[in-house]
Amino acid sequence: MKQAIRAARVFDGERERAESVVVIENGRITGLTSGPADLDLGDVTLLPGLVDSHVHLGFDPFGVAVDLPHDSEDVMVERMRANAAEALRAGITTVRDLGDRGYLSMRVRDAGPEVLVSGPPVTTTGGHCWFLGGEADGLDGIRKAVTERVERGVDVVKIMATGGSITPGSSPFHQQYTTEELRAAVEIAHDAGIPVTVHAHGASGIKAAVEAGVDSIEHAFFLARGGLAVDWDTVDLMVRKGIYVSTTTARLPTAEPPFPVSTQVRQNFGRMRELGVRLVCSSDAGVGQYKRFDSLPHGIVEFGEVVGFSTAGALASATSVAATMCGLGERKGRIALGYDADLLAVAGNPVKDLKALLDVRAVFRAGKRI
Ligand SMILES: [Zn+2]
Repeated sequence: MKQAIRAARVFDGERERAESVVVIENGRITGLTSGPADLDLGDVTLLPGLVDSHVHLGFDPFGVAVDLPHDSEDVMVERMRANAAEALRAGITTVRDLGDRGYLSMRVRDAGPEVLVSGPPVTTTGGHCWFLGGEADGLDGIRKAVTERVERGVDVVKIMATGGSITPGSSPFHQQYTTEELRAAVEIAHDAGIPVTVHAHGASGIKAAVEAGVDSIEHAFFLARGGLAVDWDTVDLMVRKGIYVSTTTARLPTAEPPFPVSTQVRQNFGRMRELGVRLVCSSDAGVGQYKRFDSLPHGIVEFGEVVGFSTAGALASATSVAATMCGLGERKGRIALGYDADLLAVAGNPVKDLKALLDVRAVFRAGKRI
């Protein structure tokens, strides 16, 4: 079925367009015109559905992550469906799950948003998020783990390059893998055409990942004892290698910030942006009560207000840029011919005021209105 949808404005993932009618057919965008429309959405802006490139569908934001192994598979899958639906209602039409248990997120690919899956993150024995079941040590161990994921059909390989704060006994500063081990993982994944992203908080883990040639770094806060210590030489290498940073900064504004150094983290990202790092706005939804599955739009607003992005740049960071980072740049994150008809209509104009993103009027997923 062919349908022409009119909005007062269209933002295509990079800029505002003169055309105001998006034609969709069989789940794809087949036209961007100024012609007649079948449906007029009124004073809204149509933009590409948002991409949250870091979520944990199986996590309960009000629960304790280390308790996850105690939940049955049915309970986990049911929670994943509910969380995916919450994201979709907020206009997030693609989510990338960066840590589940037993590859369960593959079972919820039909839950609403498009779901990209990493399976259990690769981590050292007893290391960060070991309880998700992805323990692997040394060169042979990491090679075997990545090969298993490729055979399982993951969309991305996720590796814990440093420890993390939600795992008892794990330190965010501790480097879990060497450059050589990470490079071995990258080689296998890239041979299979799959991107690699690493979780990294501390400077040495971030540096090892950048040297190994991963596609993106999650967090990249440069946490150090007593605060933050950005290694700007590593940042420089990130820029030269075109490595993305997925900031995981989006959270509900009503809640307490996760770290006391929160403001400084955002200021550092502002400096990284100026230096040319490709920043993607993401949430890490599921890891705490301020990290709900509809948090992403708040992070985009903050990219404009605190991190120093233009409004169009902030919108791009969670649409066209995020889609490209996830390997979906030919299909998602833009309103363009042949792209998936994943669309979000918000009241007003987010290019003028990003807070418009918080007033969702319609969501379309593969051409179907939710
Ligand atoms: Zn995470």
